[in-house]
Amino acid sequence: MPHPCLSCGACCAAFRVSFHWLGLASAGGAIPDALAEPVGPHRMAMKGTDARDPHCAALDGRVGEAVGCRIYAARPDPCRDLLPAWENGAPSPQCDRARQRYGLSPLTPDAWLPA
Ligand code: SF4
Ligand code: SF4
Repeated sequence: MPHPCLSCGACCAAFRVSFHWLGLASAGGAIPDALAEPVGPHRMAMKGTDARDPHCAALDGRVGEAVGCRIYAARPDPCRDLLPAWENGAPSPQCDRARQRYGLSPLTPDAWLPA
């Protein structure tokens, strides 16, 4: 069964994704500077996410259809911390809320059963 996130991407287009500036490549981190913008004295955000209708500049594809993160290996901590609902047997209110924003039903434990 394909990973549900590959046909979703809602959380990449629902929230502000902010991180400490030390995460920038120019500061020794991994996040490309060109994809970030300052949002506070020590905080950066992924471009496009500090907006009324957030949409991360690193997100390829169409939400709810087929998506990919162009910097997956270098994505900031909030992206790593937001787990899809039930992947590890636990609910994820942020995942549910993001999917609801795009009219996608919440994931259920069945989403993780082997095909
Ligand atoms: S960096 Fe990647 S995983 Fe994080 S919000 Fe942007 S597209 Fe999504
Ligand atoms: S909203 Fe949930 S299912 Fe969709 S990409 Fe994010 S973690 Fe994955």
